[in-house]
Amino acid sequence: MNNSNLIDNLTHIKNRIAKACEAAQRKTNEVKLLMATKTVSAEKIKILLEAGETIIGENKIQELKDKFSALETIPHQSHFIGHLQSNKIKEVIKYANCIQSVDRISLAEKLQQRLVFENKTIDVFIQINTSYEASKFGIAPEKAIELALQIQQLDRLHIKGLMTIGLFSAATEKVRQCFRLLKNIQQEMLSKNIPVQELSMDMSGDLETAIQEGSTMIRVGTAIFGARPYPDSYYWNESK
Ligand SMILES: *Cc1c(COP(=O)(O)O)cnc(C)c1O
Repeated sequence: MNNSNLIDNLTHIKNRIAKACEAAQRKTNEVKLLMATKTVSAEKIKILLEAGETIIGENKIQELKDKFSALETIPHQSHFIGHLQSNKIKEVIKYANCIQSVDRISLAEKLQQRLVFENKTIDVFIQINTSYEASKFGIAPEKAIELALQIQQLDRLHIKGLMTIGLFSAATEKVRQCFRLLKNIQQEMLSKNIPVQELSMDMSGDLETAIQEGSTMIRVGTAIFGARPYPDSYYWNESK
């Protein structure tokens, strides 16, 4: 894919987001775009950051690390959106501004420990498995509030929102149920003063549905960068 295609694709996605916001009677600036940059080179990412984009999401610590120095000079936020193993905590803290995949208390506690050691804080989203698929990561919806309350006790972790990977399905109404569930959990958490303002939901296929259901952050990869061959391990729990 050449560079002008990249910019065209970006423009197309931004237009889709703007249209979907208008249709849902929401303001365009309520919905951010996160570019899911797995397998994409730093050179390509740079082009889009220089075009004014501000948020990237990586799934693998190695990639986050490899691209870090090439992108360091361009102001942007780097979110970690992949499954996080606790032996990668040191690195994620070094290279990411936000971790969207916090889904268990053991991980949150280890993050807290390391952040205290480094005298840092980090933004986090709680990842919820709204599709109840055994293959997906994320805390079960019924257990999400308890986890959020526990994480709230950890002062180095700043809870910003909730993240979900909706069902991979062409059945819009089934995908919509995942998004509604996340929105409902958000409402319940907000009523308990857990500051989960952000809802990171969808992949490019159903951003219109996600925006109708309240998404504040659309994660898009394929529609900008084209189809990339990447193994399922970028999303799925291989051990299940
Ligand atoms: C890759 C990825 C996306 C974007 O998916 P596309 O289908 O490539 O647009 C969104 N969220 C997560 C967690 C991803 O890994």
